[in-house]
Amino acid sequence: MQVAQVLDGIAIASEIKAEVALEVARLNERGVVPGLAVILVGDVAASQIYVRSKVKTCGELGIFSEMITPAEAITTEEMLKLIENLNAREDIDGILIQLPLPAHVDTKRLLEAVSPEKDVDGFHPVNVGRLQSGQPALAPCTPAGIIEILKRSGIAIAGKNAVVVGRSDIVGKPAAMMLLNASATVTVCHSRTVDLPKVTREADILVAAIGRPGFITPEMVKPGATLIDVGINRITDAAEFERFFSGDAKREELFAKRGSTVIGDIDPAAFAVSGAYTPVPGGVGALTIAMLMKNTLTAAKARRAAAAVAGA
Ligand code: NDP
Repeated sequence: MQVAQVLDGIAIASEIKAEVALEVARLNERGVVPGLAVILVGDVAASQIYVRSKVKTCGELGIFSEMITPAEAITTEEMLKLIENLNAREDIDGILIQLPLPAHVDTKRLLEAVSPEKDVDGFHPVNVGRLQSGQPALAPCTPAGIIEILKRSGIAIAGKNAVVVGRSDIVGKPAAMMLLNASATVTVCHSRTVDLPKVTREADILVAAIGRPGFITPEMVKPGATLIDVGINRITDAAEFERFFSGDAKREELFAKRGSTVIGDIDPAAFAVSGAYTPVPGGVGALTIAMLMKNTLTAAKARRAAAAVAGA
């Protein structure tokens, strides 16, 4: 039996970051420093970790970053003023609002207040529409990372059957759209899909973005398929750990030490059936920050180009 190829997200992310750093250095030589503003409301521990690593990566790549940390009690109106100010600032090319926001603020309204040209998360309806109509757009980072993994690993997309399980606005839907734009034949599944295994077994490329540990089992996978696991689920239950990772000495050691481990939406047993797969951790998740950096660079270049045309 052929051994499945591991699609190494960490290596691909490093490659992308090195390319971004090179381009940023060229811009720096011309006195241009791309800038990213990250808004982090309140003190959600997980969000703080994400934001810190985004800011750190900016520093490594020569991108200016500014972290804005309003208190949990900030109102929608105050947030709107903050965003308006960042939209107008010349030194800021990208604006990222770290989600989730507190329940009392109107997240949708805030995301729509970000200038589409600075919307490095690709959540603004203008960018969603541009992506759908195949125009240049700032695309959401996680799905954009999936496409990079496939392309850079030499996995053909055009003409292949791609099945995306999950239809969220931030992962499932844009991933489906990007696979369609790359000429795959795309099926999108969700919790109301009838006979899901029958559909997933048709997939040459199976994207799992569900949020349920090990949900995709070996029986749901077509032999030789490419498995893209977007899920990030923390498990702490020993029986659940045993079910998925029994015999994995490295994981067992870490689980004993930390009392938890991270698993994707695909049962690791399914990897043996596949032709290639993204591991968790070290797969899709590793690409997200690299794609954010790439989007910030793209936004910086597009804004400078637009300014040059306007000034000509
Ligand atoms: P959401 O909860 O927004 O969406 C989950 C989707 O899965 C929904 O469309 C839902 O269907 C579908 N679903 C749930 N149960 C089933 C089922 N039994 N059968 C079929 N479909 C089902 O999650 P996200 O898209 O935000 O995230 C998905 C996963 O990806 C999570 O584990 C998250 O942590 C991870 N993630 C990882 C990122 C990364 O950087 N790697 C970034 C973002 C997310 P329905 O619409 O019908 O409810």
